[in-house]
Order: sequence, then structure tokens, then C-alpha cells
Amino acid sequence: MDNATRLQYLEAMGIDVWLPRAVPAQEQDSTFEPSATIESTLETADTIAENAPPEPEQPTDNWETLQAEVSPCTKCELCKTRTQTVFGSGNKNAEWMIIGEGPGQNEDQQGLPFVGKAGLLLTEMLRAIGLDREEVFIANIVKCRPPANRDPKPIEIESCKPYLLRQIALVKPKIIVVLGRIAAQALLNTDEPIGKLRGKIHTLNDTPVIVVYHPAYLLRSLLDKRKAWTDLKLAMQTYKAELSGLSAQTKLMPFGHKKIKG
Ligand code: URA
Ligand code: SF4
Repeated sequence: MDNATRLQYLEAMGIDVWLPRAVPAQEQDSTFEPSATIESTLETADTIAENAPPEPEQPTDNWETLQAEVSPCTKCELCKTRTQTVFGSGNKNAEWMIIGEGPGQNEDQQGLPFVGKAGLLLTEMLRAIGLDREEVFIANIVKCRPPANRDPKPIEIESCKPYLLRQIALVKPKIIVVLGRIAAQALLNTDEPIGKLRGKIHTLNDTPVIVVYHPAYLLRSLLDKRKAWTDLKLAMQTYKAELSGLSAQTKLMPFGHKKIKG
């Protein structure tokens, strides 16, 4: 593909093409695409830049901005019945990100995720694989409590999911554990039943995603606790594989792990 065509593809995909407009050709890195002429590249970039509407400044995202957007959010009707938004909590540089469905009554009252009975079980599940709750980041698909704990509607998930995706982009976890069918389907954009989603390594922008039964469900279905344990072990194995494949990365392992039993 020639450079001009490639630039147009990148542009169509919404990818900014950063080419200095005023740098003389001889100062360009001569190793860059030796087969293309730099003049024609620059010319195409200029043409595209002139024809395109001016790009709004894209400041890099940060936690303060995101939090300030979420707390007064009225993008969906869940805002009408909530007490407060539940942004998420934990280590903002976590290697593990845990994603639930949405706040329940306790979470809505306290403004924190997973603080009720399901939260206690979640804390235990994390402990079982050697993780402290404080070292992971916990968030939900929707930030406001659905009334009477009903499932969030697709439109509510669509409205709220961009916040979660921004949280994931800020945390940059090495692994994501998603809890329950609703959260898994929403995060992975699928209609597959949880029985098919669990036990596999999915990915979201190159980050491995493991689906585990929701702790609220496990409280009711003791039979599936064993499967949840299998899934947690898969998550830990995946995390370790991810770490060993990333030895050149700068992020260091901030904690030690207990050996997984069984
Ligand atoms: N269930 C969830 O999915 N999220 C919470 O924060 C609490 C219970
Ligand atoms: Fe906004 Fe999400 Fe709450 Fe809907 S659920 S009002 S999108 S924060």
C-alpha cells in the first residue's frame, strides 16, 4: 500500500497522523518508509489536514476529569433513582481489575462498589488467590443502582460503558476479571451464555479477560462455587503467563502471591 493510501486509511479510522508540516525533507528520519517519497507523504498529509475540520484539542484523560464527569452524570434514567454514583475503588495502578454489574442497595448508599454480602464473598474470592482487595481496582458496568436491583437495560449499559472503558485505559490492568453474565456480555459485546464464556481467556484490547460467576449468584448456588474456583485459578495462571511474557515491561509486580492450592 502506498503512503498516500495508508494515510487515508489511518485518517478514516480516526487515527491522527503526526507529520511535521514545516520540517525540511532532509531532516526527516531517512529510515522511515524508504520506499515512499517524503514529499508526496507530506503533500498528502497537508491536503488531508486542510480538508479536514480542525481537530478539537484532545487532552489526555485523567482520573479527576473522569470522576468529575461521572458523579453528576445524567446520561441515562438510572440517575433519577440513585442516591449517588458508584465510581469504583481500589488501586488506580492495579494489575488486576475486577468488574461487576452495577451497584446494589448498600453500594448506592455508601458510594462504594461491592460492600454488601456479595462484596464480602468477592473479598474472600480474591483472598483465595492471594490478592488483597486494596491492591485491585473494582468497578461496575453501570455506575448507578438499577431500581430494585433489576438488570441494567442495554441503553443504560451503552450510556455508561464508556466510563468503564476509560477507567480500564487509565488503570492499564494486566488482567480483567469480569463477574457474572450481565457484566461479561456487556464488556465482551456478546450474547453468549455464561456457561460458554467462563473457562476461556478472552481479550479486550490485548488485555486478557476471565469471566467468573458473580459472587451474588455463588451465594445462592453453592454447586457452582467449585467452577468459580477453577475460573479464579485460570485467572491467576493467565496473569502469571502475562507477567512472564512481559519481562521487558516497566511495571513491576507490586506484591507477592501465595501459592494457589489445589
Ligand atoms: N454487585 C455488583 O455487580 N456490583 C456491586 O458493586 C455490588 C454488587
Ligand atoms: Fe450516567 Fe452511568 Fe449513572 Fe447512567 S448509570 S446516569 S450513564 S453514571
